[in-house]
Amino acid sequence: SPIETDRIQSLLPHWVETSRQRSSQGKVAAYIPELSKSPIDALGVYILGADGTSASAGDYNLSFTMQSISKVFTLILALMDNGEEGVFSKVGMEPTGDNFNSMLKLELVQPGIPFNPLINAGAIVISSLISGHSNDEKSSRILNFFRELSGNDTLTYNFDVYRSESATAHLNRSMAYFLLDNGVLQGEVEDVLDVYFRHCAINVTCADLARMALVLAHDGTDPLTGAALIPRRYVQIAKTFMITCGMYNASGEFAIQVGLPAKSGVSGGILTMVPGRYGIGVVGPALNRKGNSIAGVHLLETLSREFDWSLF
Ligand code: GLU
Repeated sequence: SPIETDRIQSLLPHWVETSRQRSSQGKVAAYIPELSKSPIDALGVYILGADGTSASAGDYNLSFTMQSISKVFTLILALMDNGEEGVFSKVGMEPTGDNFNSMLKLELVQPGIPFNPLINAGAIVISSLISGHSNDEKSSRILNFFRELSGNDTLTYNFDVYRSESATAHLNRSMAYFLLDNGVLQGEVEDVLDVYFRHCAINVTCADLARMALVLAHDGTDPLTGAALIPRRYVQIAKTFMITCGMYNASGEFAIQVGLPAKSGVSGGILTMVPGRYGIGVVGPALNRKGNSIAGVHLLETLSREFDWSLF
């Protein structure tokens, strides 16, 4: 309600400045060279309610690439294209406890499928499951879906980040070839990787993430337009993965400290939501050792504690 977002708005700027101080203890991702240019002490937040009222503070206008946050929505599109059986014959449902880019467990589960769709190996398989006759068609279906969910037709790629990742993604490339050998990947490996690098490089602001999250917070219907965009079952699956694996191998800790479905990315973004109520977008490029925004996580801990948002 407007009263609630007013109350959040009155407190938010102060909390952002307090959390921002954590940034000096974190590091900007540098394995994608272009990301090392991100502003290390930026912190922004946008909270959007179902009635269209919002609260925002700090660098909420900063644009940044979605990176792993995009994996939630490509998973949903792959489910809409292939159904549950089609998707879960190719990726598992379990958290790994390993780093997002780990190859460690790819040999463990027979027939060599990735543990879950939010680690890189799983998300690359998901990219291969998006319907379309060419990688361009697949990529534009993804971009259009993201535009629809964010209510923003101007969403587009950050080509500098895309090229930077594509030129340096030796580890993701090796994983994709490993998956090809396991018989899990269909199609040309480079085409699949191109679809993956493109959706990771879609530029957003905190407001875009908040609107996308608001749709998930309302079981797949955009409360601002009434449009039914995602079947409820697929939202339920996506939110469950966000709880169990959305914050990398700090997902357990985040579930205890914040208690909301969330997905982070190496650019420092976090998409989260208070189910039935708010969609939330956060950005803070300085990352902690687990790869999550150090200031962003601190801010969400503060908000969740203050407003008793934990689902548990
Ligand atoms: N494009 C990034 C990669 O594959 C995404 C990683 C992330 O945000 O966790 O390394």
